[in-house]
Amino acid sequence: MRVEKASVCPLDCPDTCSLSVTVEDERIVRIRGSRANPYTAGVICTKVARSYPAWVHGEGRLRTPLRRIGAKGEGRFARITWDEALDIIHDRFTTVMASDGPQAILPLNYAGPHGMLACGSMDLRFFHKLGATLLDRRPLCGGIRSEAWMGTFGAAPGIRPEQVALSRLIVAWGNNVTWSNLHLTPVINEARRQGAKLVVVDPCRIKIAEQADLHLPLRPGTDVILAWAVTNALERRGALDRAFIARHVKGFDAYMERVRRISLADAERITGVPSADIQRFAEWYHTLSPAAISVGNGLERNQNGGSGIRAIFALPALAGKFGVAGGGLVNGAGHAFPKTPARLQRPDLVPAGTRTLNIIDVGAHLLDPALAPPIKALFIYNHNPVIVHPDQNRLRRGLLREDLFTVGSDVVMTDSLAYCDIVLPASSHFEYDDIYPAYGQHWLQRAEPVIPRQGESLPNTGIFRRLAARFGFADPIFTASDAELIDEAMDAGDARLHGLRPSRLPTDRAVAMTVDGEEAVLFKNVFPKTPSGQVELESTYLAKKYGRPLPEYRPYETPYPLILITPASNQRITSTFGGLAPSAPTPTLDMHAEDARARGLADGAPVKVWNELGEVHLRLRVTDQVRPGVVSSLKGAWFRTSDNGQTVSALVPGHHADISEGACFNDCRVEVAAL
Ligand code: SF4
Repeated sequence: MRVEKASVCPLDCPDTCSLSVTVEDERIVRIRGSRANPYTAGVICTKVARSYPAWVHGEGRLRTPLRRIGAKGEGRFARITWDEALDIIHDRFTTVMASDGPQAILPLNYAGPHGMLACGSMDLRFFHKLGATLLDRRPLCGGIRSEAWMGTFGAAPGIRPEQVALSRLIVAWGNNVTWSNLHLTPVINEARRQGAKLVVVDPCRIKIAEQADLHLPLRPGTDVILAWAVTNALERRGALDRAFIARHVKGFDAYMERVRRISLADAERITGVPSADIQRFAEWYHTLSPAAISVGNGLERNQNGGSGIRAIFALPALAGKFGVAGGGLVNGAGHAFPKTPARLQRPDLVPAGTRTLNIIDVGAHLLDPALAPPIKALFIYNHNPVIVHPDQNRLRRGLLREDLFTVGSDVVMTDSLAYCDIVLPASSHFEYDDIYPAYGQHWLQRAEPVIPRQGESLPNTGIFRRLAARFGFADPIFTASDAELIDEAMDAGDARLHGLRPSRLPTDRAVAMTVDGEEAVLFKNVFPKTPSGQVELESTYLAKKYGRPLPEYRPYETPYPLILITPASNQRITSTFGGLAPSAPTPTLDMHAEDARARGLADGAPVKVWNELGEVHLRLRVTDQVRPGVVSSLKGAWFRTSDNGQTVSALVPGHHADISEGACFNDCRVEVAAL
């Protein structure tokens, strides 16, 4: 019998679509969008529609615990029982704690599923109680943008994406909406039908750039200079809103002192964007209101990433674009939800003095003989680190350490799980309860299982409940049910929940995260939650946390001539689905004809791309969609697409961005030659 069931897509994507899942004989046979979430309104991306059934039911699905029987990385395993797996983990973790203390254990988890239970609940309670090293996950992606937001506006939401329909000017800055923010596209199209102009800032001529009124193909990592040049042009036009600045902006003079150092000619030279286009952008930003800017993640991935985003966030405050529907910034959505992570994750269990390690440094730490205590045990979950971490070869060397005990958990066998000693089968989000806020829209959703758990798989909450019991953690917080955990994930007293417990929210309709029944509009019904209550161009928060009160620009110098960027794919969500055949074509390296000619390379040729960290073999695609000096290859491909066991992350340097200690994927410099 076929039935339609409601669910939610939890992948690392701002849209968090509501789904309608067709189930036949307890198997998923079709996935479509549903209208439970009015923003996603029945539309989903093809990567999910195409891939979910095979991901859940296909050959790669993990159904039982496994023990490694081959070499690390080889991927040979034998089936074991849950009791055997739990005993081995208990024995090895206990041995590590006896010799080096609990901080020699590191959870290596990221954000595969974004449900609040799967992403961080019972798992963190377990590791906090154990006294394991804490992991700062945010630097890998999104942390720079969210810290820039916190530093400039505090924990206040920006506008809902739906409001862009009211905008007269829309700026998609480093946001490939067609692939990575799908539902913003029809909203932009609606605004354009009403006469709005569209500006796209992106090093590549992405699909939305082809439709734009103005495309600014800047050099990667120079966003701060472009935003400053626009600010200067606004000041020259007399377009700064002096009254708003005097009342609501902190640090204007100090900020402008930096901005004014950059001439228009400097900006053109550094960014590669013609000065006439910079001035046209400023003219439109001055004369068209409401004006909305949507900032994506790509532009944070360099050492000037935080500064670039802060300089963009400054524009609506300087030009007086806040306070009206459709004006301001389509960012900060995560602050629209009444989340209560401290109740859910229990950081109060963490022993005083426990260290925190940055997720992007794990490879370096695994190989660091001076790290005290050393990392002796890892637990990888919600994550495929060998594919997505910078400096892939270093991380793999670390994972090959024979004295390292590694546990991994996932829905399918990934390239990272091949390095694990024990593998645990995780349930997909179609098999458990969870609650879903979003980072790109303002609708709260809940989902229940639509199929039974597959094989012996367990949701993360179930895995860590069993582990807590095996370690003898008797406190009732370690036996809390999923419904109880959902109730601890959100503030049930929030009026928008209409008196319902979070675990009782409907699954067939999303709950609007409004402000007193109205849509959030910064400087109308929500205001900055910074220490000063103002928009902080000179940030107290970022000064204290990172020593960076103001944005700055630092040129990035290496001997390699080409900038390699690794944007999101239209085949995968980062690396999710990379193990499925339709999602695993060998990636291309996109290069401008000028650069190809200079190297004697022809379209379709096999090429090697290298720097001091590694070498990757790709097929060349000669295209004018990338600017000269920049090459591009989509991120997230698995090792099976590679003939020498390296993917583009092997070329990415491990240094940190200006804030959030964030990853600098786009500070990758390479040379290319025929293979
Ligand atoms: S990946 Fe994004 S666009 Fe695709 S279904 Fe999931 S939430 Fe929607």
